[in-house]
Amino acid sequence: MTDVIVIGAGLVGCAVARELARYKVHVRVLERSCDVAEGATKSNSAIVHAGYDAKPGTHKARFNVAGNALFEPLCRELGVPFQRNTSLVVAFSSEDRPKLEELKARGETNGVPGLRIVEREEVLTLEPNIGPDVIAALVAPTGGICCPYELTYRLAESAAANGVEFSFNCGARTVARYGGGWRVETEDGRTYEARVVLNAAGLYADVFNNQVSGEKLTIRPRRGEYLMIDKLFAGAFRATVFQVPTAMGKGVLVSPTVDGTLIVGPTAEELEDKSDTRTTAASLAKIRQSAERVWNGFPSSGVIATFAGLRAHGDRGDFVLGEPPDAPGFFNAAAIESPGLTAAPALAVWLAERVADRLGATKRPEFAGGSSHWPQFRSMSSSERAAAIARDPAYGRIVCRCEGVSEAEIRAAIRCRIGARTLDGVKRRTRAGMGRCQGGFCTPRIIAILCEELGVAPEEVTKFGGGSFLLKGARES
Ligand SMILES: Cc1cc2nc3c(=O)[nH]c(=O)nc-3n(C[C@H](O)[C@H](O)[C@H](O)COP(=O)(O)OP(=O)(O)OC[C@H]3O[C@@H](n4cnc5c(N)ncnc54)[C@H](O)[C@@H]3O)c2cc1C
Repeated sequence: MTDVIVIGAGLVGCAVARELARYKVHVRVLERSCDVAEGATKSNSAIVHAGYDAKPGTHKARFNVAGNALFEPLCRELGVPFQRNTSLVVAFSSEDRPKLEELKARGETNGVPGLRIVEREEVLTLEPNIGPDVIAALVAPTGGICCPYELTYRLAESAAANGVEFSFNCGARTVARYGGGWRVETEDGRTYEARVVLNAAGLYADVFNNQVSGEKLTIRPRRGEYLMIDKLFAGAFRATVFQVPTAMGKGVLVSPTVDGTLIVGPTAEELEDKSDTRTTAASLAKIRQSAERVWNGFPSSGVIATFAGLRAHGDRGDFVLGEPPDAPGFFNAAAIESPGLTAAPALAVWLAERVADRLGATKRPEFAGGSSHWPQFRSMSSSERAAAIARDPAYGRIVCRCEGVSEAEIRAAIRCRIGARTLDGVKRRTRAGMGRCQGGFCTPRIIAILCEELGVAPEEVTKFGGGSFLLKGARES
């Protein structure tokens, strides 16, 4: 019997697993997909929210503000880019202005530092490309941006380096009481026994909560669609610019990303199907229309990609955390919709402490927090590049020209502990295929490298696991 089974290797599951690695416990993470960060974690706005939006007194408010404060030390330790770029909430009409006051008051109650409301002239000085109809803005200097999947890979690497085991393509099907702990049966018939289960299954966390507790939970998918804007427009905005929020969410935002592109979105649409991550022409048109108000001269020609993510919207209106009263030893990290990325570092500490208490576990002094990190060709100076190529000639072979990713980085991304096994896995770990051509040139070369590293045939390489094969040919002939 293992000590802890974590169901789900999204940001939350990986963050909790890494925090648990600080204790003398054995942790196994079961993940249905073939990689970490395949759920909401890969498709969101990537904003580290300041914390003025959540209702005071909720888990969302508490962990948003606490999580935001942990981003600097955590990202420094893991080598993940993070920028405190400031968030602005802009008002375009006098009806919007009271909402700014309301958000400021709410933020102050939540403990958000430095909030202030500024008038039109100052807004346009701060962000000259905001649409001319702006009348005022709430400025939140602690708002930030980071890359959620890079953070998740690094957390998973660090967890694995500290003894956490990951099982991929290993979806949990049922959780049931077994002795003093739990038995988890997987979709392919395997069973695992554990003293504690930590439920971080994203959109499917309600399934497991409802198997063990009488306090039922319903999670529905709320889809958000996005446009990604080319690096050519880097610098158009320094801050993240939100519009005044509505009942459905924080509205369409425009934000730089830590990688130099800009993100525009999301929409908010209630769905039934927990797998429907399609984008739609109607929603993308709505985003464009809304973005034109925020971004004066919005560059439609700069759109290089569109994508959608599904928020895990719970019926209790808040994160569902910790043990249900009738299921001791079963811990929820459920209904973690926005601001879940921001909250994750603080949630993880809080949950790991409670799990360790339940197990009577003490700290492991040998925990090493960092994650192994390969140097990135695109961030090197000329002399660093020359030295890297002298050390490893594969640094001199650029595979992704748009993003400047070398063959050495792609091989490192496959060879690391929680290594890439798919085209998307390589893409998210290295940015190869994320530039203007969206993999048009580098995809065949990455497939060839995956084949060499994994010892598989090209027809076996997938985009994201399962049946997402990229090539047809030899198998049929
Ligand atoms: C459109 C959108 C915008 C957002 N914007 C922001 C933002 O700007 N800032 C912010 O703070 N937050 C934001 N969020 C929220 C943030 O993305 C999430 O809170 C966070 O990613 C949740 O992580 P998670 O690990 O709980 O879920 P997920 O990333 O969904 O991970 C759950 C994992 O569980 C796995 N799983 C599911 N079922 C099983 C099973 N049966 N067995 C094993 N594994 C299973 C899944 O495959 C998945 O890997 C946004 C979310 C969305 C969708």
